[in-house]
Order: sequence, then C-alpha cells, then structure tokens
Amino acid sequence: MAQLIADIAEKNHQSLVPPAFHIMLKPRGAICNLDCKYCYFLAKEHLYPGSKFRLGESLLEEYTRQYIEAQQVPEVTFAWQGGEPTLMGLDFFKLAVKFQQKYRQPGMRIYNALQTNGTLIDDDWAQFFHENDFLIGLSLDGPRELHDAYRVDKGGRPTFDTVMRGLNYLKKHRAEFNILTTVHAANAGHPLEVYRFFRDEVGTTFIQFIPIVERDNETGYQEGHRVTDRSVTAKQYGDFLIAIFDEWVRRDVGRVYVQIFDVALGVWAGQGAGLCIFGETCGDALAMEHNGDLYACDHFVEPKYKLGNIKDVPLIELVASEKQRKFGQDKRDTLPQYCLDCEVRFICNGGCPKNRFIKAPNGEEGLNYLCQGYRAFFNHIDGPMRFMANEIKTRRAPANIMAYLANKEAEFNQRLAQTRRNDPCPCGSGRKYKQCHGRYKLPVKLAIEDAF
Ligand code: SF4
Ligand code: SF4
Repeated sequence: MAQLIADIAEKNHQSLVPPAFHIMLKPRGAICNLDCKYCYFLAKEHLYPGSKFRLGESLLEEYTRQYIEAQQVPEVTFAWQGGEPTLMGLDFFKLAVKFQQKYRQPGMRIYNALQTNGTLIDDDWAQFFHENDFLIGLSLDGPRELHDAYRVDKGGRPTFDTVMRGLNYLKKHRAEFNILTTVHAANAGHPLEVYRFFRDEVGTTFIQFIPIVERDNETGYQEGHRVTDRSVTAKQYGDFLIAIFDEWVRRDVGRVYVQIFDVALGVWAGQGAGLCIFGETCGDALAMEHNGDLYACDHFVEPKYKLGNIKDVPLIELVASEKQRKFGQDKRDTLPQYCLDCEVRFICNGGCPKNRFIKAPNGEEGLNYLCQGYRAFFNHIDGPMRFMANEIKTRRAPANIMAYLANKEAEFNQRLAQTRRNDPCPCGSGRKYKQCHGRYKLPVKLAIEDAF
C-alpha cells in the first residue's frame, strides 16, 4: 500500500494525497429504529432499493485493511454512524475490533467513535464500549419536552426515557461519552435550559451543537432554497450560542468542552480549526455506505457525489481523486465576495457548503444560511477569545478568564454603587445612570463585550 500511496502522490503531484482522512462508516446504511423528524439520512434508504443494508464480513475486513494502510499518521479513528449502527449487533463490532488488531501497524493507536441514539444500549454494549475504549456520541436534544419534540420512534412515540436508560448504562460501565445536540425550532429558544441540563443533570463534559438546516424538498438532497419549519433560523442559532457562551465563559472554562467554543479558541490561538466546517477547505471527511460506496461527505450521500466503490477502486485512490479534491477546494473557491470581505472569515470560512444556498445582500448566490448567526456569534466572542488565546500563548490557563471576568464585574458594580442618579452611567452608554443601569438592583451582570 505504501507503494500505491507513493504512486498516487507522484501521479497527482503530491498534494492530492491527504496524510490523514476520516470516514464515517454506515454499516446499516440509513436503517434506524427511530424516526426523528428532522433526520437527513433516513431518505438515503432509497438509494439502495432491495438492499439488506448490512456491511458484510469480507467488506469489513477489506475496509479495515485499506483504511489503516492509507493513513500516514500514528492515530487512526474508526467512526461508526448511521442510521443506527448498534442495529448491527454486538458481534459485528467485536469482529471489527478483531480486524483492527489484525491490521494495526506497529506503534499505531486505533480509536473507535460511535454515534448512536442510545436506545439499544444495555449492560453488554456499555461494557464492550468501556473495555474497547469506544467514544460514544449520544444524540440528546435537551430535557424531556425539548428532546421529544422531534426525536420519536417509528410509532411517533417519545424516546427520552429510552435514551436516558442507555445513558445510565454508559455511566454505570464508565464508558466514555459525549453529547450531540441538534439545535432546531423547538429547543433553540431554550439555550440555558439545554446547556444546564447537560452540565448539571446528564453530567457530560463534552457537547456538540449541530444546527438543523433541513431543506424542504422531495429528494432529501442538498437542493432547493426552502427549509422546513423545524429548522433553526440563523438568528436563533447565533443567539443560542451566545447565551451558552456567556454562561460557559463565566464558570465552565476548562471544565465543560463545547465543540464550537473549542474550535474557535484553536483558531484564535493560531492552532487551526480542526473541524471541516470552519476550515478553509474540506474534503477529508468522507462517508462510506454499507456496500462499500464512498461519498464526498456524510452530508452529500447523493449519486452526484459518489466517488466509487472500494471493492473496485482502492480507497486511497478515491480519497485522492481529482473529483474529491475539487469538492474540498470548492469550499474556498466558491466563497462569495461578501464572505471574502467579512471580518470573521478567518474563523468562519463561509461555514459548510451544504448550507450555502441564500443570497448575500449584494445579490450574490452562495451565502451560508446561518451567516447572520455565525457573524453575530464570532464577533461576540472576539474579546474573550483574544484573552484566552493570549493565555495559551503565554503558557497560562485559558480558564483564568473566569477570575478576570469576576473581577471586572465586581469593579463595575462598585462603580455603579458610587454613581449618583443624574450622573452619566459608568457603562458608557451616554445615558444618565437613572435611565440606564440605575434601573436595576445591584449587583448587575457586566455584558461580556464590555469586559474587554
Ligand atoms: S461539506 Fe461540510 S460537512 Fe462535508 S466535509 Fe465539507 S464542510 Fe465538512
Ligand atoms: S459570517 Fe457570514 S459573511 Fe462572514 S464568513 Fe461567515 S458566512 Fe461569510
């Protein structure tokens, strides 16, 4: 395989072979035991009429071999997704781990990350996950009513209790998990309720927030300009992130990891995004269906974006293909001028191409549907991010920001306490104190943007 990588690199002038890439594997295709109303993947079942939707043993071995051999880094992660991957049964994953050990190269560390709705997890699953160091991504949209708004089973019944049962098994067996939360019309207006539920009741220390931007069309593909009414609006998404950030930055830095905050800090600290949607280019996060078909990305499992089948063409050749590299570079090369001129492009980079279907104010096509929210959020966190990035650069803990903010807030309240009714308000609004902060009982919260 090393020779094959070298040959492809030679043929493609080196630059087309990524040293590492990521594949979301869908061993049961789009098959799931739930029927979440916003799921973008259930419709993909129609791509394979008559299929049994099971990744077979020989393909599993072939994939494992090719995937490991194609990576030129010492850490390799197998990512399992669906549909619902646990519908494959535990023996399938025991076999997967066996093949990983068989093909593991000296010094190589192998990880597994499995995204699940959690409803089938029991003692055996949780014990297996713990023993084999699987990182479990559990889909949970918040407390009961918010979760059950869209996450229902095939009979339309709520799933909160069964997910929480699965979560308890994970905790009981000390399996590592994080929470993946979609942000949609039902929970977007409740940011702190959602965040505090995860932090205080679920007890998670790692949360991802994924905006639901669901195209309203018949195909289930990324086409058309309308979104369903389950989708979050750009403003809602920005407000949601800002509200959670303001709580997090005051009390949870270094204790709770919220993916988008972490990614942003990486960029502000000059360490790169590490997440495709905020990278300049993408194309190194692909998806493989149960039959070996490889697609450009999990969000583009569509005939137009199929690269080929790994039973016919070596995986590395598909990953390094001109078609896939162009897919990734288009993320940068198709940015509208509006993004090129934007003050937060260094972190946003226009977001994920799947959501670039609205017009910019100047009429240009291809602006991200979430732009308004991203712009508001990234501008809002600029001060705190600069502070934390500077702490990192000077080898101090970013968590120092919490003490800094507490001091600033105490000072501010002290100044307010000494201000007379008709004096200018110390916040700098230009209004009289009695018409501004003088209307509130002390102590008041200092707005994050006023602290820097
Ligand atoms: S299309 Fe979006 S989700 Fe897919 S790899 Fe590119 S940025 Fe990532
Ligand atoms: S915030 Fe909007 S304009 Fe700025 S880079 Fe992102 S999508 Fe483009």
